[in-house]
Amino acid sequence: MQQNDLMEKVVSLCKRRGFIFPGSEIYGGLANSWDYGPLGHLLKQNIKNAWWKFFVQEREDMVPLDTAIIMNPKVWEASGHLQNFSDELVECKSCHRRFRTDHLLAAISAKPGYDKEKIRSIKDVRCPDCNGEFTAPKSFNLMFKTFLGTTEDSTTVAYLRPETAGGMFVNFKNVQQTTRRRLPFGIAQIGKNFRNEITPGNFIFRTREFEIGEFEYFINPKDWEKTFEMWLSEIKRWWKDVMCVNMENLVWHEIEEGDRAHYSKRTVDIEYNYPFGLGELHGIAYRTDFDLSRHEKVSGQDLHYTDPETNEKFLPHVIEPTFGIDRMLLVSLLEAYTEEEAPTADEGETEARVVLKFPKHLAPIKVAVLPLSKKEELSSFAKQIAGDLRKNFQVDYDETQSIGKRYRRQDEIGTPYCVTVDFDSLEDKKVTVRDRDTMQQERIEITKLKEYLADKLK
Ligand SMILES: [Zn+2]
Repeated sequence: MQQNDLMEKVVSLCKRRGFIFPGSEIYGGLANSWDYGPLGHLLKQNIKNAWWKFFVQEREDMVPLDTAIIMNPKVWEASGHLQNFSDELVECKSCHRRFRTDHLLAAISAKPGYDKEKIRSIKDVRCPDCNGEFTAPKSFNLMFKTFLGTTEDSTTVAYLRPETAGGMFVNFKNVQQTTRRRLPFGIAQIGKNFRNEITPGNFIFRTREFEIGEFEYFINPKDWEKTFEMWLSEIKRWWKDVMCVNMENLVWHEIEEGDRAHYSKRTVDIEYNYPFGLGELHGIAYRTDFDLSRHEKVSGQDLHYTDPETNEKFLPHVIEPTFGIDRMLLVSLLEAYTEEEAPTADEGETEARVVLKFPKHLAPIKVAVLPLSKKEELSSFAKQIAGDLRKNFQVDYDETQSIGKRYRRQDEIGTPYCVTVDFDSLEDKKVTVRDRDTMQQERIEITKLKEYLADKLK
């Protein structure tokens, strides 16, 4: 399968089966906005729950937080977002299309025949659409501005948050004191963020509204190197054991000193080999005490921490792993999408099937209950089984069309188990359970079905 085909196929499957719809579609859509449909919502929820369990719930050194999207604008003054959170853009003088300068230069340098000597800056570049000249680059702040209340002036201006980190930093003291935590510990949060991207695109890869899962891990600065290594190896474990990603698709990009934020002593970008090329998936940065020291300065509050054992008083340093939830979801779809030949009911015959081979714990629907016939006695019996399974699993019930077609439909959305109820089931109180990946079938007693599935889905 061609890489570009893969992206197209995934986008089309997402629309067709209700994972992801174009936003505001009945009004002609809104560029680069997407809505998560029933299955997309479930998949996203499962990814967030898995992330939360792995990075927060199962650890003794993490606490949760859920802060406001609109914060006091001073937060963004302190963090530097108001002054520096901008991209450089140029506009074509003839067709007026706008480009991010860095994206444009990257695209040009990747082309065959690229001559470093001829293209020293954006001045030497022409519009790829119409060959027009560009304006001088200007800075464009990515913050979404709004106003609080009825008056629109500088006293009521506010911003939608561009990251969740600010909420963790301004609550550091509240959280540390109410939970009586000692360093090291982390504060974690999942939430929506907003950035007025100049060039969004590639489906849900770059959008203006997106979800982040991130945490600030507060440490004594003397421990930064070993803590950074600890989180890097946890992140590897996350991709390998929980997201079950082919590790060859990940690139661990150590950011050079000149390319790092001035305060960061180490940053690693985790990149993924998307069908449209290598791109950022998420990152981990050692941010020193930059954030707390800035918030101390702008708020005038003392945010120092005193070690109860040594009485040493210092400003905690921070290691910050950040994960884009939507990008992780995109990766889970790209990794899961499989086309293969599967045997049919006829001996020796095969047919093509599309399967989303999600890790079972991420699959949106866990079990489908499929009665072999729509006859009342069988469907009411099957509905009872489905109703009972719903107490433990996300269940789909489907009684239309042939059993083969129904299997294909479940394969296509990644349902790990199909439970077929036939007329024998009424007598022997057993059902047939089919495994998505092996397509093996097993006859299971209904009284043991829940236990059987729970064990398989563990
Ligand atoms: Zn142009």
